[in-house]
Amino acid sequence: MSLSFLTGILVVLAMDAEASGMDPVILNVKVEGNVPASFLNAGIMEAVGIFRKAGIRIIRRASGRREEFAEPVENIEVRVVETAPRDKRPAVLASSLPYAKSGVRVFVYYERVAGVTPMPNPIVLGYALAHEIGHVLLRMDTHSDEGVMKARWNTSDFSWMQAHMLRFSDDDAEMMRRNLGHLKGAADCLQSGGRPDDMPHRPCDKSQ
Ligand SMILES: [Zn+2]
Repeated sequence: MSLSFLTGILVVLAMDAEASGMDPVILNVKVEGNVPASFLNAGIMEAVGIFRKAGIRIIRRASGRREEFAEPVENIEVRVVETAPRDKRPAVLASSLPYAKSGVRVFVYYERVAGVTPMPNPIVLGYALAHEIGHVLLRMDTHSDEGVMKARWNTSDFSWMQAHMLRFSDDDAEMMRRNLGHLKGAADCLQSGGRPDDMPHRPCDKSQ
């Protein structure tokens, strides 16, 4: 076993520890049309694992349950839709509204995702979800040269996916964690009676 492999394992373990200590991002997932529940559940689990490796904790809010989480940093509404709208180019598997602050911000098109591979593969759903949730957490509609946030995945990316090893780039992971940290700071500020400011150098304005 090589040292770099061991280092890789240690980095992932450290990320897991970091993710478990974080306030969670909550996913509210709703389905429109006929999407097999087992496929959906496996895809969501894959997405949860992808974010865990980036140091971010994602929890799916169970439908029909009114559980409340202490302080979710972010609530993201997700729609998994059986058929894509006609105006979506054939290559589009999913889409998002990264600049919106509420409402449905992530859409995934089941038939498109299921059609990427010879047999429908929930791993692809997991990566499509992770990519679009990534846009929301990054607050950007732009793409990266590598990893989950690439504009187009190639054959090699799909092979890495299959091994659960395609990851967010370090820069993307860091920016998502930083954005969530700012949200958390703003929430804490509000709770303590302050007025959160979007400007990072003055995160909690308590002046009257
Ligand atoms: Zn994208």
